Amino acid sequence: MKELADIKDVLEFYQMLGFEKLPIELKDFRKTDKINIKTVLTSNENTPIKNYHLKEEALIELRKEIGDCKRCKLSKKRLNIVFGEGNPEAKLMFIGEAPGREEDEQGRPFVGEAGMVLTRLIEKMGFKRTDVYIANIVKCRPPMNRDPEPDEIEACKVFVEKQIEIINPRVIMSLGRISTMTLSGINKLKITAIRGKFFYFKDIPVMPTFHPAYLMRNPKDKWLTWNDAQKVLNKLAEK
Ligand code: SF4
Repeated sequence: MKELADIKDVLEFYQMLGFEKLPIELKDFRKTDKINIKTVLTSNENTPIKNYHLKEEALIELRKEIGDCKRCKLSKKRLNIVFGEGNPEAKLMFIGEAPGREEDEQGRPFVGEAGMVLTRLIEKMGFKRTDVYIANIVKCRPPMNRDPEPDEIEACKVFVEKQIEIINPRVIMSLGRISTMTLSGINKLKITAIRGKFFYFKDIPVMPTFHPAYLMRNPKDKWLTWNDAQKVLNKLAEK
């Protein structure tokens, strides 16, 4: 009965994405699903609590260090610095490019419509938002939601690098072109060409995938992101 419930869950998810039939072999999905839920959700359990608190404190210190940052021109129009949130000991980190309007207003990452798409993906992977860590490359909203410019990324990326260093996740998912460019150091890449293939940021595997805002405009590509997510779950399940 448990397996039937799992299959129903998968079918409902794909129906929600707008598919009339599964874009993958059901046999393959079940194999992957078995790996993800068991191994991944128990991997935090034996970690000493003091590590959690040390990392939490380090993140609080980093936020203090950023202060009322005016290191780049994005400081002029922002309402709030959007530092990032989640589990300081997260095995999985999601990194987007920049806050949007609602994130700027609330001071939290991925809380708008795109945030709902990301939250659904996180939950379908078997996590809660509080299990993972979510951040952006730049911490302040670019005007009119334009892409962050190179000088802004250069000024701010030290903070996300520090967050990665503190959290030291097992895997990162980079959401969209800007995040992937920044973490890979490759300029002018096409996310459509690079997504789905792991690269490494300081020995941490990074899976590039589409930004949730792109998926809202191109829902037919959601299954590609789901395929990327399954590769991440397999990576997390590796010893
Ligand atoms: S985007 Fe980053 S570097 Fe620029 S003002 Fe905001 S916190 Fe500072």
